[in-house]
Amino acid sequence: GLGIGIVGLPNVGKSTLFNAITRAGALAANYPFATIEPNVGRVSVPDERLSALSKVFTKGDRVPPIIPTFVEFVDIAGLVKGASQGEGLGNQFLANIREVDAIAHVVRCFEDGNVVHVAGKVDPLDDIETINTELILADMAGLEKRLQNLQKKAKGNDKEAREQAELAEQILKVLGEGKPARAGTYEGKIPKDFGLITIKPIIYVANVGENDLTQDNEHVKAVREYAAKEGASVVKISAQIEGELAEMPEEEAREFLHDLGVQESGLDQLVKVGYDTLGLITFITSGEKEVRAWTIRKGETAPEAAGEIHSDLQRGFIRAEVIEWNRMVEAGGWANAKSKGWVRTEGKDYVMKDGDIMNVLHNM
Ligand code: GDP
Repeated sequence: GLGIGIVGLPNVGKSTLFNAITRAGALAANYPFATIEPNVGRVSVPDERLSALSKVFTKGDRVPPIIPTFVEFVDIAGLVKGASQGEGLGNQFLANIREVDAIAHVVRCFEDGNVVHVAGKVDPLDDIETINTELILADMAGLEKRLQNLQKKAKGNDKEAREQAELAEQILKVLGEGKPARAGTYEGKIPKDFGLITIKPIIYVANVGENDLTQDNEHVKAVREYAAKEGASVVKISAQIEGELAEMPEEEAREFLHDLGVQESGLDQLVKVGYDTLGLITFITSGEKEVRAWTIRKGETAPEAAGEIHSDLQRGFIRAEVIEWNRMVEAGGWANAKSKGWVRTEGKDYVMKDGDIMNVLHNM
């Protein structure tokens, strides 16, 4: 998947947030790939389990390096200013947003007379409706075209086309009521090539000034209420503060957050919520060489997880030694964990759990 797309009206703080994301990504240690597209940023997923395990596998002064896993954010620029006045969404915008797996919708919840608001006043619910309406209209336009083609094919007694046409009609009915596609329940799986934007899970990012980080202002409260009705998540951040944090060494950043009265940076929260929204979980490989997190989808099996490490490991998978991360910390290493009987042997059907440590036994 291509990660999470950042959208929002102009002047709500998208670029400020995206810049913080790319800077945070650039600072992340051990990042093995150099070239990323300019509109894509990666942020490491904060994971305290890794540092605990790194301590377990420290031998003398040899501390195993920690390799975290990442979430990708895509800056989906080009939501044209006139979109809400009926000029529609640009093609580039639509192409980009159709590729991501989830949407982070940045909503302005800060008051600042120096920053012009496109609609003249700060009103997050109005902003949310404006964008949601555009996305719903874009989905309707795309799906109506698709439906015409399917109906033509269905006349030729194409059973699959007929079923898809029925599904498209069900979705169009939901969209026609002004609701996002995700609000409906449908018979049958929605084909990817329907290209629906509003079926993707959404996270509302409430961008506030630094004074509103500890307590929700009225705008944030309104966004939370709205999101709760949709079953969507809300992450409150200050994009400006995130930009400053991304420039600081870790220790200084922690102190800065502490002085602001918050536990965790907004970006860290966004990464965690994003990871969860994408349906991702982490498994870990760990030893004296390195402690490393890997990303898989919920429901994936041990061989599929092994394939994430290397395709050979999936093909040559025999079985896996698995232990929960906290048991490993308690045991203090593989040998002791085994003698306590805490390391299980799992076969090809084992469904991985978040926080599993795995050692793959293979015939490669
Ligand atoms: P974009 O058009 O959505 O990408 O918005 P920008 O990131 O360019 O931000 C628009 C303006 O709002 C810039 O001048 C930012 O410095 C300012 N801005 C962004 N976040 C905040 C914030 O939390 N508080 C205040 N006061 N200004 C902000």
